[in-house]
Parts: sequence; structure tokens; C-alpha cells
Amino acid sequence: MRSALTAGLERLALPLPDERVEALLSFGAAVLEKNKVMNLTAITDPEQAAELHLVDSLTLLKVLPLGGKSLLDVGTGAGFPGVPLKLAEPSLRLTLLDSLQKRMRWLEDEALPALGVEARFLAGRAEDFARENREKFDVVTSRAVARLGLLCELCLPFVHRGGYFLAMKGALAKEELHEAANAIRLLGGSYERTEEFEIGGAVHSVLVIHKTGKTPEQYPRSWARMKQKPL
Ligand code: SAM
Repeated sequence: MRSALTAGLERLALPLPDERVEALLSFGAAVLEKNKVMNLTAITDPEQAAELHLVDSLTLLKVLPLGGKSLLDVGTGAGFPGVPLKLAEPSLRLTLLDSLQKRMRWLEDEALPALGVEARFLAGRAEDFARENREKFDVVTSRAVARLGLLCELCLPFVHRGGYFLAMKGALAKEELHEAANAIRLLGGSYERTEEFEIGGAVHSVLVIHKTGKTPEQYPRSWARMKQKPL
């Protein structure tokens, strides 16, 4: 895992102090260990986990300066991209959100305390937390949770005006962006740019969406409604 992480950090031109590299490796190892008894990831090879989970998450540090920012990771699963970002940039104020209680309990009770890392944990559905956490975050991130249009309805309500939503996407980013153009505008967002990274031999895209307006109060709707009538 170490050589793949080191190579990835070099490729990203992201030098990190040794103790942060060690913390990233410890977290990567903890995910793979827990994965033996709890379904956390389909990736079991340590080199692949370093590239596809750790390095992929860290690309966001090349997209926006995240030091000191409040960041919410929606649908964090086993902690990606939120936890690697916090380990690489400890001044980040991290909140993790996922509807799967088991994964959240593992992060809150075991994985993060073992690393001495502080974070806030929201265990439940994003659409249910949006009211009390509306427009509260500088940055919201999300990877592998839903198609972009739905994801924007889940994530943009949490971003304050002037903040950013970073959507981590794969090969279909352009198509998803086209499909989500109306949703982004309706929800108070403005597409700014796409940054591409080569990860594990494939192109990964980060869509940078600036929150320029206010999200109307009626969003997010219920999940069933969102799916039935996408914006
Ligand atoms: N972001 C992680 C990653 O890239 O490794 C996890 C991706 S996993 C495929 C999708 C996660 O999103 C699951 O853990 C699921 O519970 C969560 N999720 C899906 N819809 C959600 C919602 N509406 N609110 C909260 N979590 C959600």
C-alpha cells in the first residue's frame, strides 16, 4: 500500500509530512481489515485500495484549498473521500454523513478514535438532515452515491452561498453534467469547471459547482419524489 500511495502523492505533486502519510496508511489498512467482517468496499488489494480510495480522495486537495474549511461528505460509506482529506489536511472541519448506521458506527466508535481524528457524524439520509444543516458548509463532497442531478438535490442545500459542491465522477461526467444542468441552476448552483485526474489507469473527473444563489426551501424533496420527478 505504501508504494502505491507514495507514487500517487508524487504524481499529484502533493508532498505530505511523514506522520500524515502514516495516518493515511493506517486508515487504509483499517478499512481492509474491517472489510473482512463488514461490507465496506469491493477493493481488497492494498495497492489498489491506496490508488482508488486514498489517492482518488486526495485529488480534491488539488481542486480547492481546503485548509480550515468546513466540509461535509455525503454518502461517505467507509469514509471516502472525507477521511483521507482530513488526515492529509488536519485543519479541515469534517462532517461525515451516511444512511448506513453500521458503517457510521464503525467510523465514529472505532476507526477515527484509533487515529485520534475528530469529526461530526450524521447517521441518516441526506435529505432528512438538510433542514437543520441548511447552507452550513463551505464545501460538500460526494463520490459514488447517485447520478449528478439527484446528487445536486441532496448536496447543494448544505452549501452556503459562495461555497462549493465537489462531485467526484467517472467517465460519464460530461453526460451527467448535461443532464443535470437544470437541477444545478434551480438549486442555486453554477457549474464552474471540471478537473480530470488519471486514477488506476482511468480518467476521474471532479465537477466543481459553485453555490451562487439560495436553494429554494422546497428542496431537497423526498427520495421517492426526487427519483420519480428529477429536476
Ligand atoms: N463515498 C463512498 C466511496 O466512494 O467509497 C461510499 C460510496 S457507496 C457506493 C454509497 C454510499 O452512499 C452508501 O454508503 C450509502 O449508504 C450512501 N447513501 C446513498 N444514498 C444516501 C442518502 N440519500 N443519504 C445518505 N447516504 C446515502
